[in-house]
Amino acid sequence: MAKTAHDTKEAWSLSKKYDGEPHGWLQWKGTDVCMDIHCVCGCDSHVHGDFCYHVKCPKCGRIYFCNGHIEFIEVETHNEDEGTLFGEE
Ligand SMILES: [Zn+2]
Repeated sequence: MAKTAHDTKEAWSLSKKYDGEPHGWLQWKGTDVCMDIHCVCGCDSHVHGDFCYHVKCPKCGRIYFCNGHIEFIEVETHNEDEGTLFGEE
């Protein structure tokens, strides 16, 4: 379901917060992000950049607020070839 807000403040209020569910909150610390963008107009695009809190569709011009909450799905196993496992002591 696509959501539409007047501004970023309203977008924040509409964003899913995952309260009571396992999740993470992204904090961009100047880290270059590489993200695929899938717009409701059907355009698939890609961005690279720091502090990516908003994205603009290159086809229709829609601007999206990026909800920094990310879903966590528990996995029972992790193999080293799947990438670094962060959070280990
Ligand atoms: Zn678009």
